[in-house]
Amino acid sequence: MENSVRVRFAPSPTGYLHVGGARTALYNWLFARHVKGDFILRIEDTDKSRSTNEAIGEIIKSLRWLGLSWDEGPEVDGKYGPYRQTERLDLYAQEAKRLLENEKAYLCYCNPEELKERRELALKEKRTPKYDGRCRNLSPEEKIAFEKEGRKAAIRFNCPKEGETAVDDLIRGRVEFKNEALDDFIILRADGFPTYNFAAVMDDHLMKITHVIRGEDHLPNTPKQILIYQALEYEVPAFAHLPMILGSDKKPLSKRHGATSIEEFRKNGYLPEAMINYLVLLGWSYDEKTTLFSVDELIEKFSIERVSKNPAVWDPAKLEWMNGHYIRQMFVEELVDKVLPFLESTGLAKGINREWLKQVVILAQERMKILSEIVDWTDFFFKDVETEEKELREVFSTPEALRVLGLARDKLKELQEFKKAEIEKILRMLCEDMNLKPAKGLQPIRVAITGRKVSLPLFESIELLGKEKTLAKLDKTIETVKQLF
Ligand code: GLU
Repeated sequence: MENSVRVRFAPSPTGYLHVGGARTALYNWLFARHVKGDFILRIEDTDKSRSTNEAIGEIIKSLRWLGLSWDEGPEVDGKYGPYRQTERLDLYAQEAKRLLENEKAYLCYCNPEELKERRELALKEKRTPKYDGRCRNLSPEEKIAFEKEGRKAAIRFNCPKEGETAVDDLIRGRVEFKNEALDDFIILRADGFPTYNFAAVMDDHLMKITHVIRGEDHLPNTPKQILIYQALEYEVPAFAHLPMILGSDKKPLSKRHGATSIEEFRKNGYLPEAMINYLVLLGWSYDEKTTLFSVDELIEKFSIERVSKNPAVWDPAKLEWMNGHYIRQMFVEELVDKVLPFLESTGLAKGINREWLKQVVILAQERMKILSEIVDWTDFFFKDVETEEKELREVFSTPEALRVLGLARDKLKELQEFKKAEIEKILRMLCEDMNLKPAKGLQPIRVAITGRKVSLPLFESIELLGKEKTLAKLDKTIETVKQLF
């Protein structure tokens, strides 16, 4: 359909997909899906020294994991490709030449060392470093002389030196920039590679992008891009700059604040549903109160109008809480599939019986906030968990505690039906006989069985552990405690 909405996510493949980039991708995707437009993935790999194929692979993997499918782009193609900028170099060269011919751009023979020197001098003299324009009006003779020296020319954009360029941003309103503050920036490097501002404009135009939705950090680039659109007589798309994401210290979110790549969250046991739900609220809200949204609800409800101008603050506890919510919502069978790799990766749970594991997962489901926590909740099934000495001394500070263990051992040994109901009955009776409240009386047993004071439900755990292992654990703890006191 002509005139329909087309948006893009245009990552530079220099590393993993970070949460900021994922949020940008998500907003673009939701915006497109909401109006049945197209979502395009474009790889901006013109920074030769920092772009890698591995990073492209990682970004694609993370986007797919999040479920953000693209209509055109790598692995999908489409009629405006190629979708990787290093495969489009001819297109950029062609249009840069047109700008040269129209005197909207000029050849610059200054080499990187000279530019660096001048920049450093400016800084030393407390001036804002800026290209001094010395190649702006070179005569043909001067150009020939430079070329004879073996210099290769870059192409600089000839920025207007007066007036203002306004960005009519869908989120921030009208933002005006003074042209005199802009530099004559390079659009095509001497090696034929375009710079970001130039390549992005050309591609957004050629790929018929209608709305450019990206992070606020790109706002200072937008006047430069608008000037290029005007110089090339392209139609200017709509812009929407998304608010920054800050850490709890109100500084831009970075590695210092913990995990920031989608891949890390995936590896640690976060669910894509939770990531999507959490990310969407970093700068967007539907109303004052709703926090949980399915992807379908988001597609239905998302709008740019409700994106905030104010920075969003990253809150790992909220993300964890949300992940717990989605874990509780899962079908057990699916959760078994999801936790199995975490158990297997510890080497503990080899050849695990799936039906048995299902019972364990049912117990853990209510308690887990992230999938990797399955290991800490269930490790006692697979090995003896060492309890810290300090904790043992505390739990077994009275002689009664050790007596409870001994009695529990004898009673459980005699038990014919090793089932939750019977286990619960005899252990509660034991507490009663000893005049102990269950919370106190069961504590030594819980520590002996699970290694911890907080654990999965005790009676069910004992049943699932089985008689033999239960007795062995009780014996072992009795021995340890005896030696301790
Ligand atoms: N390649 C740019 C980045 O990763 C894209 C900016 C844009 O969306 O225009 O930040």
